[in-house]
Amino acid sequence: MAHRTEALFRDDAYQKTAEAEVVAINDRGGILLDRTIFYATSGGQPGDIGMFERTDGGRIAIAATITGETKDEIIHVPAPEQALPAVGERLKLLIDWERRHLLMRMHSACHLLTVVCPFPITGAAVAEDDSRVDFDIPDAGFSKEDVTARLMELVRADHPIFTRLITDEELAANPGLVKSKNVRPPVGTGKIRLVCIGDNGAIDSQPCGGTHVKSTGEVGEIHIGKIEKKGRENRRFRIRFGPMPAN
Ligand SMILES: [Zn+2]
Repeated sequence: MAHRTEALFRDDAYQKTAEAEVVAINDRGGILLDRTIFYATSGGQPGDIGMFERTDGGRIAIAATITGETKDEIIHVPAPEQALPAVGERLKLLIDWERRHLLMRMHSACHLLTVVCPFPITGAAVAEDDSRVDFDIPDAGFSKEDVTARLMELVRADHPIFTRLITDEELAANPGLVKSKNVRPPVGTGKIRLVCIGDNGAIDSQPCGGTHVKSTGEVGEIHIGKIEKKGRENRRFRIRFGPMPAN
C-alpha cells in the first residue's frame, strides 16, 4: 500500500531543515519518511537533493527525490554507497537550499511567462540556470526583447505570490485556470492547489504543486535567452537568469 508522506514544502517552501522519522526503506533502497521538506520531481520541477543527518552525526547524501505509487508517497533516493537508516530512526533533514531557491525563482519566472504569453502550454521544464516553457502558438510574433521587458515589469512590480486551495467544483466552474493543453490537474481528492500572483491572484492563478518564491521581486533579473520553433504550432521559450547579453 502506498504511504502518505506529509509534504511540509507545500505549506512552507522556505523550510530548510526539519526532523522526521523513517517509516520504510523500499526494495530499491529508497527512504520513506513520515514528513519531508524534500520536493519530489513533478510538474516540470526537479526534486530536491540534500542530506540526512543521523543522531550519531553520520550523514546520508540524498541524490534525488521522486514520487512513488501515488503523488503523496515521497521517496528519497540516497547517493551510491550510503549507509541506510533503520525504520523508526529519527533524522535531521537538510535540503540543498541554494539549488532549491534557484528552482523556486525559475518556477515562478515560468508562471510569469505564461502571463506575458497567454497561450496553451504544451510542456515545461524548470532547471537551475535555464528553464523552458513550450506554447501552442502558430506564429510567435514575439521578440526576446519585448517578452523580457514585460517579464521584468512584473518582477519590478514585486507582486505577492501565494497558494490557495479550491474545490473540484470551483475548478470545474473556472476552466480558464488550467493553462496546460494536455495535463489536467488531478481531481477527485477534493482540493486543488492554486499558485496565485498579485493581490487576490489578479495577475495569475493556476493549479500547481511546485515551490515558489513569495513575491515576483524575489525572482530577480531574468531574460528570454531564446525563442525556438518546435514544429508548426509550437514555440519554446527559454528563460535565463541575469540581464540579456548584448549582441
Ligand atoms: Zn507551476
